Amino acid sequence: MIANYGYQDGSGDFFITIDTDKCDGCRACVRACPAECFEVGEDPNDPLRDEPVAIVSEVVRNKIKYTCGKCKEAGAPLPCVEACRQNAISHSW
Ligand code: SF4
Ligand code: SF4
Repeated sequence: MIANYGYQDGSGDFFITIDTDKCDGCRACVRACPAECFEVGEDPNDPLRDEPVAIVSEVVRNKIKYTCGKCKEAGAPLPCVEACRQNAISHSW
């Protein structure tokens, strides 16, 4: 399942996407993100899933453009994308 976390405003689309079919719950993104954007736990989109999965924390979803600002300024590779060995994380901007 493709899970999109973020928002759209007049300046663009700001979503972090997690491919939950690829995510194995390893928590590498949790450790890598300096802004604590990720959590690993129950899948809010799939209550029947037993395995833990990464989600984007609710507190940062509506300001993700700003929360990720320092990483974006530093340029690729983004710490979260680089840390995920399953290639489950992507950004829309
Ligand atoms: S690093 Fe990738 S595979 Fe590991 S929990 Fe995060 S999204 Fe899932
Ligand atoms: S870009 Fe940086 S702040 Fe944003 S989710 Fe990835 S590691 Fe965290």
